[in-house]
Amino acid sequence: AKNAGRGRVEVYDDDLRAALAAQAAVEEGLRHALAHDELVLHYQPVTDLDTGRVRSVEALVRWEKPGQGLVPPGAFIPVAEGSDLICDLGRWALRTSLAQLARLDAAGGPGAGLRVAVNISGRHLRSPRLVQDVRSALEAAGTAPDRLTLEVTETVMVEDDAAWARLEELRSLGVAVAIDDFGTGYTSFGQLARVPVDVLKIDRSFVDSEDPRTVELVRLVVGAARSFGLKVVAEGVEQASQVRALQAVGCDTAQGYYFSRPVPADRLPGAVEGCTRT
Ligand code: C2E
Ligand code: CA
Ligand code: CA
Ligand code: CA
Repeated sequence: AKNAGRGRVEVYDDDLRAALAAQAAVEEGLRHALAHDELVLHYQPVTDLDTGRVRSVEALVRWEKPGQGLVPPGAFIPVAEGSDLICDLGRWALRTSLAQLARLDAAGGPGAGLRVAVNISGRHLRSPRLVQDVRSALEAAGTAPDRLTLEVTETVMVEDDAAWARLEELRSLGVAVAIDDFGTGYTSFGQLARVPVDVLKIDRSFVDSEDPRTVELVRLVVGAARSFGLKVVAEGVEQASQVRALQAVGCDTAQGYYFSRPVPADRLPGAVEGCTRT
């Protein structure tokens, strides 16, 4: 409670203190969650727009907080990114998704043989441990490196030479790299020719837009990506009209609620079957 007559600076101090305490509480809770299996991965299919087939999925973390249901990543990833906790979470996501991929392979059917894309935070990409983390997760699951894609946001790559080299090293192992949220950061058209990536994910804000100039921009990005040998994924596709517009500009693949929401691993075979259009 704020006492009458308090100065603004003190009120600000109180707010800051409250914010720091809230952050510490989330960190503490997340550490507990990692140690006690409260985190789960949901998987969202990526559909090939030419063939209608699903060949890969994106792993997205959720927190099954006792008594609070499923907490979305927006509520805790930004806090985790403030410390090395995000690297612990990254290691957990790599290991968990690859182990689940192996189980889906063993089960056969529509969930078998998929590739998985795992989100890697900038902090983890800047850490010298990343390459070893990826290697040991692949080894632990016995998974071929070409089944794994790492999704990174574009900002990190242009800023940091060591991170850039790390991506090159991972790619030389056979792991693919995707630029996430393309169009919201700083990669220029010119840099597209040089960035060490295999896949470009066009941010939902571009897919959403019916502005003819934005559609034209997407066409240009798809064309440039193609001539540099990159695959393109359109994110956040919710409507059939968006699918048609993306096909018209030559986009290869798309993911979004139109095809499937992210689902737990046990529901993935059904989701893959459901959003395969032949
Ligand atoms: P992102 O990597 O851009 O993931 C796509 C987000 O869009 C996901 O939100 C997904 O559920 C949502 N989405 C998919 N299709 C649609 C659609 O058609 N419409 C709309 N409106 N949204 C759609 P989610 O799962 O809440 O994740 C949010 C962000 O949290 C992710 O954005 C990613 O940056 C981060 N994140 C999620 N999982 C992880 C993780 O394991 N590690 C790290 N470092 N970050 C993660
Ligand atoms: Ca992503
Ligand atoms: Ca994205
Ligand atoms: Ca994002």
